[in-house]
Amino acid sequence: MTDCENLTGCAFFNEFKQRSCDPDFADLAIRGLVRLYCKGYKQDRCIRKILSKKLGSNRVPMNLMPCGVALSNTTDDSWSPEVVSIINEAKKAYS
Ligand code: SF4
Repeated sequence: MTDCENLTGCAFFNEFKQRSCDPDFADLAIRGLVRLYCKGYKQDRCIRKILSKKLGSNRVPMNLMPCGVALSNTTDDSWSPEVVSIINEAKKAYS
């Protein structure tokens, strides 16, 4: 399986890359998401990617994880209703 084509410009993946260099970083959930989405078979179901295709990469919330929820210790309070609506539709389509 090839890596996601958005890998280099993706805020989620870049944040992961930075954190994974930290010896104290042990977020297994995020590592699992990278394995499944960014480098795995679910990359075409990534909510970040779907949102980016629909609205442009500049409208994808920084703290949105590929599975469609906010990164731990963050909230979705700042996400626009349009963004939330697309996220919910995509989650329904792939549930
Ligand atoms: S989070 Fe989504 S868009 Fe970003 S690199 Fe991973 S699969 Fe691609």
